[in-house]
Amino acid sequence: MLQFNHVTKRYDNGKPAVSNLNLKIEKGEFVCFIGPSGCGKTTTMKMVNRLINISEGSILVDGKSIKKQDPVELRRSIGYVIQQIGLMPHMTIKENIVLVGTLLKWSKEKKDKRARELLKLVDLPEEYLEKYPHELSGGQQQRIGVLRALAANPPLILMDEPFGALDPITRDSLQEEFKKLQKELHKTILFVTHDMDEALKLADRVVIMREGEVVQADTPDQILRNP
Ligand code: ADP
Ligand code: ADP
Repeated sequence: MLQFNHVTKRYDNGKPAVSNLNLKIEKGEFVCFIGPSGCGKTTTMKMVNRLINISEGSILVDGKSIKKQDPVELRRSIGYVIQQIGLMPHMTIKENIVLVGTLLKWSKEKKDKRARELLKLVDLPEEYLEKYPHELSGGQQQRIGVLRALAANPPLILMDEPFGALDPITRDSLQEEFKKLQKELHKTILFVTHDMDEALKLADRVVIMREGEVVQADTPDQILRNP
């Protein structure tokens, strides 16, 4: 599904932010990227959806180099959730969830139907569709951010510390909810965190990075046995 071949990113002439990254991710795999601040996790995500360019090497999605794909099309086929989700404050929750529908020229009926379908995936009642972001708690807004990323049904989802700003209790419940959701949806997910507990709880595989390099890439079981 996703392959990193000798991927290096230099922002300037200094030390690379990501250095010779080699990794193969299977369809439906949930991979957590973990490591201290500045080790290259966010840079790795941004190269996948072409928010930034790769300096050396290549990234393949379904065997095709992302460089050969139209960046707009590519970004549409990849869901992206970040810590500062930035829901549109003057749009209802419904409009926020199906934001991509405007780009894709969905009819009002299609947007309506899709927003309802998506809201069912999380623990929020239907009347929330007509509310505005400021009426929701941080955890609720973050759920909407996840739904927004799922709206166009992308096979690949990038999540950069999506639950990082939440209090521990909300965070725990969102992790549980999200893990269940992932089992149903069977998406390929790249998930950035600096919390090892979160990584071990969610991931099929944990990729540990340090100073732009992968130091270990193993299942949670292997990591627990061989830390
Ligand atoms: P992480 O997500 O693991 O915290 P980042 O990928 O954000 O790490 O950053 C990796 C390295 O690249 C850091 O040293 C950071 O300062 C540097 N970096 C990130 N973005 C830029 C940028 N736009 N310009 C210059 N350097 C950057
Ligand atoms: P993260 O939360 O992933 O660690 P940061 O807070 O380090 O991200 O960076 C926030 C933004 O600033 C990102 O878009 C990143 O690319 C950019 N950035 C990070 N480090 C630098 C840097 N040294 N020079 C310029 N931009 C940077």
